[in-house]
Amino acid sequence: MNELTKVILDESEIPEAWYNIQPDLPEPAPPVLHPGTHQPIGPDDLAPLFPMALIGQEVSQDRYVDIPGAVLDVYRMWRPTPLYRARRLEKALDTPARIYFKYEGVSPVGSHKPNTAVPQAYYNAQEGTKKLTTETGAGQWGSALAFACAQFDLECEVWQVAISFQQKPYRRTLMEIFGATVHSSPSDLTNAGRTIRAQDPESPGSLGIAISEAVEAAASDPSTKYSLGSVLNHVLMHQTVIGEESLKQLAMIEEKPDLLVGCTGGGSNFGGLSFPFIREKLAGKMSPTIRCVEPTASPSLTKGVYAYDFGDTIGMTPLVKMHTLGHDFVPSPIHAGGLRYHGMAPLVSHLKELGLLEAEAIGQVECFERAVQFARAEGIVPAPEPTHAIASTVRAALQAKASGEETVILTALCGHGHFDMGAYRAFLDGGLEDFDYPEEAVRQAMEKIPAVT
Ligand SMILES: *Cc1c(COP(=O)(O)O)cnc(C)c1O
Repeated sequence: MNELTKVILDESEIPEAWYNIQPDLPEPAPPVLHPGTHQPIGPDDLAPLFPMALIGQEVSQDRYVDIPGAVLDVYRMWRPTPLYRARRLEKALDTPARIYFKYEGVSPVGSHKPNTAVPQAYYNAQEGTKKLTTETGAGQWGSALAFACAQFDLECEVWQVAISFQQKPYRRTLMEIFGATVHSSPSDLTNAGRTIRAQDPESPGSLGIAISEAVEAAASDPSTKYSLGSVLNHVLMHQTVIGEESLKQLAMIEEKPDLLVGCTGGGSNFGGLSFPFIREKLAGKMSPTIRCVEPTASPSLTKGVYAYDFGDTIGMTPLVKMHTLGHDFVPSPIHAGGLRYHGMAPLVSHLKELGLLEAEAIGQVECFERAVQFARAEGIVPAPEPTHAIASTVRAALQAKASGEETVILTALCGHGHFDMGAYRAFLDGGLEDFDYPEEAVRQAMEKIPAVT
C-alpha cells in the first residue's frame, strides 16, 4: 500500500445508480421560476426543451436513480476511472500531505462531460428526439455531446463561443468527426445571434449568448431538443459517478479525505465529486472541508450575488436562484473557457449559502505555474479549468508543509489539456495575464437582473 500510485476498480464496480442530493438537503433549494410570471415552473414549461425523463430527474426526491443498462454499456468504454496518488508532486512540494486525484481525462473526449452527455442523449433517443442542440465554450461539452449523439443515432448541432471557435479549431474538428454541425456564436442563424451581432459585429461571444441561440433553435422545432452540459440538477446528478467511485477507491486504501477541491464553471465536475462526500459528511461518517475554486476573472461564487437570474444572455431561460455576475456578463479572454460563465449551479449555490462548502478564486498565472509543475511531476497535462483545482491543492499542500500536518487532499482532474496547447504556449512565452473582475461591474450588472419579490 505504501508504494501505491493508482487505485483501479473492476468494471463491475461502476456505480449502478446516480446519487441525488436533493432529498438530503437540510433545506430544499429555492424553486425555478417562469421568466414571465415569476411563478414556480412545472414540467409543461420545460417540455419543449427537455425529455420528460430528465425533467423528472430535475425535481426528483429519490435519493438514488438507476443508471439505464444502455448508459452503463457506454460508460464501460472508459469507466471506472483511475484514482491516482500524486506521489511525485508531493515529493516536489516536500509536503506531508497525501494528494489524490480522480482522473476523468481518460474518457473518449478527455473530460468528465460524457458522464452526462451519454444519459442525456439516451433519454432523448428513447422519447423520439431526432436532434439535440447545445452551446459550447472551449469545445469540451460540444465534443462530449457529439460523441454521445453518435452512440444513439441523434443529430447534433452546436453553437461554439466565437473566441473559442477561433482559438480552438481542433475541438471543432473533433465535434465534426463525431458527426456534429458546428456554428460560431453569435451566428446569423437565430434571432438571438442576429440581435447581438447588430449591437457588436465583432462580439467574441459568451456562453450566455450561445445558450440563447441553442435554446431558440430547439424551441422552434418539435423534433429537436436542447441539452445543457452543466448547472442543472440532473447534470450534477449524472456526474456523481465520479464521487461514488472515489469513495470506493479511498475506502479500498483506508483513506478519508480532510479536504476536497474542485474547479467550478457551472459546478458539474465539482458537484459530481463532492455530493457523495457531502452525503457521508451529513451522515457523520467523515468531515472533509469542501472547496470550490474559480478564476478571479469569472468569480461568481466569491464576488457574485445570490439572486434570481436568467441562465442565458437574452433572457429566454427560466429564472434560477444562483450566485451570478449578471446575465450580460462578457468574460475576459482567460484560457479556462469552461469556467467563463456568469452563474453557478443552483445546488452548489444553495450549499454555499447553507455553509456546507467554501469558495476561493485564483488567477490564471498561478494556475498555469502549478499545472506545469504538476505535469512535470505526474506526466499529465491538465485542461486549463482543473489547473484552478491544482493550484488550490498546492496551496493546501504547502500549508500542510508549514504546519507539519498530514492532510489528505482529494481533487478532481476533470480533463486533460491536449487541445489547449495554445494556452500553454502563451504561458510558456510569458504572455498570460491575470484579470480581477471588478466589484463595480457586478454592482452595475445587478441593476439589470429581474426583480423577483
Ligand atoms: C466544462 C468543463 C469544466 C467546467 O464545467 P463544470 O460544470 O464546472 O465542471 C471544467 N473542466 C473541464 C475539463 C470541462 O470540460
